[in-house]
Amino acid sequence: MERVQRTEPVRIVIAGGGFAGVTTAHALRHAAASGRVEVAIVSRENAFVFYPLMPEVISGALRVETILTSIRHVVPHARLYVGELTGIDLDRRTVTIRHGLYQHHQEPLELPYDHLVLALGGVPATFGIPGLDDYAFDVQRLGNAFALRNHLIDLLEQADIEDDPAEQRRLLTVVVIGGGPTGVEVAAEIRSLFTHALPFYRNIRPGSERIVLVEALPRLLTGFPDDAAERAAHELRKRGIGVSLGRKVVRVDPAAVTLEDGTVLESRTIVSAIGVEPNPIVRSFGLPLDGRGRIVVDEYLRVAGFADIWAIGDNAAVPDPATGRPYAPTAQHAVRQAKLLARNLLASLGGGTLEPMRYRTRGMMVTLGDHAAIAWLGRFTLTGFPAWWLWRTYALLQVPRWDRRLRLAMEWTLDLLFPPELVQLKVGQPAPAMRRLVEAALRRLREAPVPTESPASSAVGSVARRDRE
Ligand SMILES: Cc1cc2nc3c(=O)[nH]c(=O)nc-3n(C[C@H](O)[C@H](O)[C@H](O)COP(=O)(O)OP(=O)(O)OC[C@H]3O[C@@H](n4cnc5c(N)ncnc54)[C@H](O)[C@@H]3O)c2cc1C
Repeated sequence: MERVQRTEPVRIVIAGGGFAGVTTAHALRHAAASGRVEVAIVSRENAFVFYPLMPEVISGALRVETILTSIRHVVPHARLYVGELTGIDLDRRTVTIRHGLYQHHQEPLELPYDHLVLALGGVPATFGIPGLDDYAFDVQRLGNAFALRNHLIDLLEQADIEDDPAEQRRLLTVVVIGGGPTGVEVAAEIRSLFTHALPFYRNIRPGSERIVLVEALPRLLTGFPDDAAERAAHELRKRGIGVSLGRKVVRVDPAAVTLEDGTVLESRTIVSAIGVEPNPIVRSFGLPLDGRGRIVVDEYLRVAGFADIWAIGDNAAVPDPATGRPYAPTAQHAVRQAKLLARNLLASLGGGTLEPMRYRTRGMMVTLGDHAAIAWLGRFTLTGFPAWWLWRTYALLQVPRWDRRLRLAMEWTLDLLFPPELVQLKVGQPAPAMRRLVEAALRRLREAPVPTESPASSAVGSVARRDRE
């Protein structure tokens, strides 16, 4: 392993402001307060997204802001760089960041580190299915989930104007691809949206809506015991969701999904929930990767062969001693890994003993819409309302900050009492002033002289200068 040279305080750069990155920064707060370490987070967004509640944003049970928390509020001790991490220089121990819509710095910033934590998450998987990336909404990105909700409301509005029953049916057919927890929850939440919205669309014939959940494997919810998975399929069917098992999607077109047996499902709303792939940017770092492109780490969460680089969450292959395979890409695992990483990193600074990752998944829960859920708790399975209550209580406690928890509790209560939100937010077109500002910035960038100085060296200067100001 390379020797780690240290400066005081130790500069820790965390790449990624999701579950893994923000929890790591939070767990380092006492060390930062004591002046032992300096923590910086590089994140594309200035908000932390609580993904497990995203399906409820689609149904309108929650407002989008409720599942977002400002990173600055959660980890005020950390210096936040909102921008795109574009590279790592392993020899000089720096990361490169591009930031700002207007690129007011002509060169990317360079940030030096003593320890680097890679928590850049994943991207929606496509498994090479033609057309999936082009024509399906994925729910891996907040913007897409928001767009999906607006799109569904738009289709309800269109179907209400349409008099032809066949066209109404075509407009209101939704295909969700992927029968894992996310696909099941998204299908169930879309069902809830339709159930509660349709009484307000009086021209839409009852039964015009159709939701089909397509899974390639012969069962739903891999990871859950068989009986829980069967129960989930039964509950979804009872709610009027078509569950198609053991049938692979082979192609997606603008308004159709083709299955391997030749069946074509016509749909204006195709949703992909087939899982995640590690963030492709990690391939450019020159770090060891496994066959699926995840960064290889040891049981202490250090990148294999590096004493100063750590990786956790969806972009890492963290070995699970119980199965011999990497831990599944879940928030539950990312949070446990982050807490251990912070502990091990501090131990490594003081010459302490590192602890291996030995977390056993405590259970899994999925909501099935309409106040029902399935919770597998290791030894037993809970269903219906008690499972739903347990899931909501657990989620409430996991969301960072009490103000967000309070908002969440209030919105869930309002959702029980009032009809669903049907407002369609048309945010697709930027305001003319915004468009012109962006065009002007792009023009400036095109006209800017090519820098003769190495971008890296001048950017280091600019970071250092800004830090002193
Ligand atoms: C709809 C949905 C529901 C889910 N439900 C559950 C659930 O119920 N339970 C559960 O345990 N898990 C759930 N998950 C999975 C869970 O959200 C992920 O496993 C978890 O977010 C992984 O954490 P992470 O920090 O590794 O990645 P992320 O949370 O994705 O964070 C990565 C961060 O890095 C940022 N980033 C990426 N590239 C760059 C770059 N180049 N520069 C700067 N920043 C960058 C991203 O913008 C993001 O903020 C769900 C996921 C989804 C999408």
